[in-house]
Amino acid sequence: MTANAIEIQGLRKTYRAMGNQPPKEALKGIDLNIPAGSIFGLLGPNGAGKSTLINILAGLVLKTEGRVKIWGFDQDVNPRQSRAAIGIMPQELNMDPFFTARAALEVQAGLYGVPKAQRRTEEILALIGLTDKADAWARSLSGGMRRRLLLGKALVHSPQILVLDEPTAGVDIELRQMLWTNVRKLNDEGMTIILTTHYLEEAEEMCDEIAIINHGAVVVRDRTANLLARIDTKTLVIQPEAPAPADIPMPDGVTLDRRRDGALAFTYHRNRTSANAVLDALRNGGITIRDVASEEADLEDVFLSLTSSGTAAR
Ligand code: ADP
Ligand code: MG
Repeated sequence: MTANAIEIQGLRKTYRAMGNQPPKEALKGIDLNIPAGSIFGLLGPNGAGKSTLINILAGLVLKTEGRVKIWGFDQDVNPRQSRAAIGIMPQELNMDPFFTARAALEVQAGLYGVPKAQRRTEEILALIGLTDKADAWARSLSGGMRRRLLLGKALVHSPQILVLDEPTAGVDIELRQMLWTNVRKLNDEGMTIILTTHYLEEAEEMCDEIAIINHGAVVVRDRTANLLARIDTKTLVIQPEAPAPADIPMPDGVTLDRRRDGALAFTYHRNRTSANAVLDALRNGGITIRDVASEEADLEDVFLSLTSSGTAAR
């Protein structure tokens, strides 16, 4: 057991120019350690570099520069061992349509050199809920079942680290819950889980630690609870009955943005100020409130606040 399941230093990836497409610098020098035993979230908008990063970890994309250690094995020194330590459920539904579900798992196990006696095909079929579809052709499976089969394929060689690339993008609630139940179970059994998502809520719910990446760089990395405390901004939008005075005394840490329609938008940290304190201050200032709405910070705001505050850790 190593303390870090993954150690990444100075990782860069530039995709080569293709046709009239210029070269694309997808990763701009990533340093990142992922602790063994955690559920780790890579959070970022589309195009941030999440898939590039984890595809490099899984050995599916060649890095341009940098060092990657997987379960203590340097990718360049021990490519076979480092590959064996990781299983990946890819973002795309690329599936061998001419195999049955059981055969797809067997073939995958064969690719990883798992001896027949050590295969866990039936156990994995049960885990992903496909026992009764084991002999169905992959092409006859529903989209959700194919996703589950992809998860199963990632597990055939009993990797220490499981990587899931946007596992719940566009899936229904039932499948989502099934995936999370499985992920928690595997993690309880000791597996390190790395998942990418562009849903903040999902990262909040599932992950012990989160790295936010944007434009190929890590913007912030912290334990989920710490991160939430940092990004815990809320905005209260007030429509005053009459035009608001120029000076409205406010509690510390509350910022006011006057909107064009006359609304007053107060932004505050939930862990420092309550909505009540903002409303009290308004009433004390003699402002009559016609309407109130609240706006949660979304991922976009989170990026903005983290990248503009200058406090972002690397
Ligand atoms: P994410 O998974 O966060 O959405 P990606 O890692 O897929 O981001 O992509 C990061 C950037 O690299 C994007 O600008 C994307 O267009 C580009 N990119 C990804 N794959 C390739 C490729 N095979 N060739 C050229 N550019 C690519
Ligand atoms: Mg992606």
